[in-house]
Amino acid sequence: MADQTPMMRQYLEIKSGYPDAILFFRMGDFYEMFLDDALTASRILDIALTSRNKGSGDEIPFCGVPFHSASPYIAKLIESGRKVAICEQVEDPKQAKGIVRREVVKVVTPGLLIETESLSPDENNYLLALSQGAGTTWGCAWLDLSTGEFRVTELAGAAAAAGEAACIAPREVLLADTLELDDLPADLRAFLGERIVSRAPGWVFERDYATSLLCGQFGAASAEALGLGAMPAGLVAAGAALYYLRENRKSAIPHIRDIKVYERTEHLALDPATRRNLEITATMAEGKKAGSLLGCLDRTATAMGARRLKQWLSYPLVGLEPIRRRLEAVEELLEAADLREELTAHLREIADLERLNGRIGMASASGRDLRALHDSLRRLPQLLERLAPLQAGLLHSLAGTIDPLDDIRALVERGIVESPPFSLREGGIIATGHNAELDELRAISHEGKGFIARLEAQEKARTGISTLKIRYNRVFGYSIEVTKSNLGSVPADYIRRQTLANAERFITEELKNYEEKVLGAEERICDLEYALFQEIREQVAAQAERICRTADGLAVLDVLISLAIVAGERNYCKPQMDDTDVIDIRDGRHPVIEAMKLGERFVPNDTRLDADENQILMITGPNMAGKSTYMRQVALICLMAQAGSFVPAAEARIGIADRIFTRVGAGDNLARGQSTFMLEMMEAATILRNAGPRSLIVMDEIGRGTSTFDGVSIAWAVAEYIHDTPGCRARTLFATHYHELTELAATRERIKNFTVAVREWNDQVIFLRTIIPGGASHSYGIQVARLAGMPADVIERAKEILRNLEHGEFEEGAPRLAKSKKSQPQAPSPQFSLFESTEDQLRLRLKKLSIATLTPLEALNLLDELKRMV
Ligand code: ADP
Ligand code: MG
Repeated sequence: MADQTPMMRQYLEIKSGYPDAILFFRMGDFYEMFLDDALTASRILDIALTSRNKGSGDEIPFCGVPFHSASPYIAKLIESGRKVAICEQVEDPKQAKGIVRREVVKVVTPGLLIETESLSPDENNYLLALSQGAGTTWGCAWLDLSTGEFRVTELAGAAAAAGEAACIAPREVLLADTLELDDLPADLRAFLGERIVSRAPGWVFERDYATSLLCGQFGAASAEALGLGAMPAGLVAAGAALYYLRENRKSAIPHIRDIKVYERTEHLALDPATRRNLEITATMAEGKKAGSLLGCLDRTATAMGARRLKQWLSYPLVGLEPIRRRLEAVEELLEAADLREELTAHLREIADLERLNGRIGMASASGRDLRALHDSLRRLPQLLERLAPLQAGLLHSLAGTIDPLDDIRALVERGIVESPPFSLREGGIIATGHNAELDELRAISHEGKGFIARLEAQEKARTGISTLKIRYNRVFGYSIEVTKSNLGSVPADYIRRQTLANAERFITEELKNYEEKVLGAEERICDLEYALFQEIREQVAAQAERICRTADGLAVLDVLISLAIVAGERNYCKPQMDDTDVIDIRDGRHPVIEAMKLGERFVPNDTRLDADENQILMITGPNMAGKSTYMRQVALICLMAQAGSFVPAAEARIGIADRIFTRVGAGDNLARGQSTFMLEMMEAATILRNAGPRSLIVMDEIGRGTSTFDGVSIAWAVAEYIHDTPGCRARTLFATHYHELTELAATRERIKNFTVAVREWNDQVIFLRTIIPGGASHSYGIQVARLAGMPADVIERAKEILRNLEHGEFEEGAPRLAKSKKSQPQAPSPQFSLFESTEDQLRLRLKKLSIATLTPLEALNLLDELKRMV
């Protein structure tokens, strides 16, 4: 360091404090990056890389971005998973002795964003802090800095923690630097392997430290007062999140008003596999919202509502009362169509108050932001008026939560002009009448403009130079410009200021006095406006809690209206919720497939599940019949109902489930290096270990990933286990293409057979999509194989094997697959395939033929062609 220039020494010293961030080093109008940071950033940002001391032995690579347009560059670096440390000049360069003092004023990290450029409007952006507690307990605290949401819970076991973490889907995860990734349980390691992981020192994860930090932030006296007395691991996770936030953003966070403590049992539990399989918030194939349940239900008008709906679907409820409250509200909104439209019209005009609140609290809101807040608030009185007559308990309480914030609206209305400029430093933000001194300065500056015109006319008259002009220039200020040809008429009191190619510029005593007054006023105006703006912003920030509550109410209202809109358009019904073990659905449909309108009309189906007679529905039927669709539809209907939504059915009675498990065939995890079968078995094992009498299980084609014998045996044993084990006696939908399993119903009283109705017609199979009692007689696999052009011998042999299987394969307990009328395997006869295939081709050709459109000549040609084929 010693041989470096003083500036470079300062740089290296500051950089050493932020080794894992790209340091934006402010130099005049630029942020410069040096050394490795420059190499990385220039590559990611695609900007020119140059170097200092070019040609000398110690070149220093560097690159830079203009400070006034740095945001998109910062956003791009964040997008690529980096952190950006912003280092500013913290003293006036004019007053600095030697090198200007510089300091890092904030570090922007992916998990701690308020920058609009880096946020997607309808998604939360979470930082998740994980802490290891006693035994296998994990603390889990998550925070969206942009909205102020802060939650904490504790989970038993790494798998549960990983599941919760996956559901939260954080942008960044914070861990103690004392935790080695390699020592963590596999579930967590797998989760963390795909995330941006940041570290905080081990001492941050201490109880005392966390307690004092959290109590300080939330004005509480103790961990108990925060509701965290019995959650030590949650407490330290929350403390660590707050520590990390303070360390990096280095700003006040008045919009984070409280921390919500929750327990996993407050919500319908959905493990990560089930969330994926049911495509709740994202599709399995592409991870997109479009095509998921969320995509299908989202008709929200605000970003706040869109984010809230995602939360409701991610965390459906289990409490009867809260679910009923939501459903009643949706029902009333559904019936009041006109009123719903009026409310929606208001909501559409309301900005993202949660995020505005965040930016205001963290002093990064602009004049435009405050004005957007004002314009949104202006909608509230009318919105509340519309809301007032509604009866449903939840809607009624919303009317109390949504505060029209009239004082804040009036403050902005009085203080901020209607369309303020983007910049905060160049004036033009504060409205007239807000501050007397400002008005006076503006009058001086304004009056000055008229003064110049008058002075110009006066000087023209005095000198007789008709082309004389008064000019203004940033460096030289005001001057009187006279062209060379008129210099002879310049009076004696003109003082020369500047010489141009064909003119001279002068100043007079009068103009000089004016200049001092006006320029002074303008500078003063900018400073004063900025100060006044900050004052207003702080006054608004002091009301963060009220804005937050209002935003919360609006988000809920938006979601309820969205659910009502969808319910109305798609003809959903209000599910009847209760605490029994009955799930009774009449004419249920799959919400997403139904909405896709694929040409085929969606065929509705009934479902009855309960604990006494219909515990396990064993659904057999050929491939492509609609088994998977049917089972998912039942799971989705339960989930939707518990989230507070109406459901795609004619009638539905839902005994609330505590967990939904699904085991659905998918090959999506091959990338993680586990075989499909292994994964399938792991998922099934999790289900059997965790399911209880209130759970709902969807088992789709379990055992498919292995040989038939293994597969049938495993599927059989699993079904028996679910039926026979009292602790695991869950309501279950069990689809299988092994029709052997239909025999289970004979020996197990709560297993019922169902199949998908199929009609054979003209050598074709037609799927009727109707689920009917009974087992599938056969799978039509062989028929499909024949249609595909398999040689006849193969088809015949397959039929033979099938007959063997069907005739007591399992009763005798010995495999009979190999039994054959033919004793020896034969070499395939060469002529059969030739003959068969010719015949097939002939048949095919004839089949394709359309006699109606054939001309006599074409008919003759065709005959000739067929003859040659034979
Ligand atoms: P399986 O699991 O029996 O192989 P799927 O559930 O995957 O069958 O369904 C096959 C196709 O049939 C799907 O692409 C789906 O669009 C369609 N389908 C399923 N159920 C219905 C239904 N009730 N009405 C209309 N189309 C359906
Ligand atoms: Mg299927």
